[in-house]
Amino acid sequence: MTKSFDEEIRSAARHLDERTARAEQAYAVLEKEGQALKRADVQYRCPNRRGCILATVYRTSEGVLIHTNPYKFSPSVNTQSSNESGRARSTVDGDRHWKARTFFLDQGMNIQVTCDHLTARVRTNKQIEQDLKARKKVVIIHG
Ligand SMILES: [Zn+2]
Repeated sequence: MTKSFDEEIRSAARHLDERTARAEQAYAVLEKEGQALKRADVQYRCPNRRGCILATVYRTSEGVLIHTNPYKFSPSVNTQSSNESGRARSTVDGDRHWKARTFFLDQGMNIQVTCDHLTARVRTNKQIEQDLKARKKVVIIHG
């Protein structure tokens, strides 16, 4: 007997959730051990002299792991670039303090990086793969 389409979808969604949970756990271990930055294969930083760390990328046996740091938008940018349901889901305060995210590259999301000096730059999966391949340790994202 084959699974119904609904069952397939549910099982795929569950699998994705579990994979995200594993990505989050793996990153939490690195962070707890103070290795999050040291072990990063690629660090994305902003061009400001403060060099904010926007995202870090790790090669793992399960795939390429990505962590994007939390950030806040100014009120006007926040209103322009998000909607209420997105804010409810992905911010810590339901407003403009956006959560950190951790996931595997193959989960299909390009990353968006932001800090006080840079607003919402996108790094595509393809660019991330190229950065890894070129063994760049630090990549500055320009505004
Ligand atoms: Zn910055």
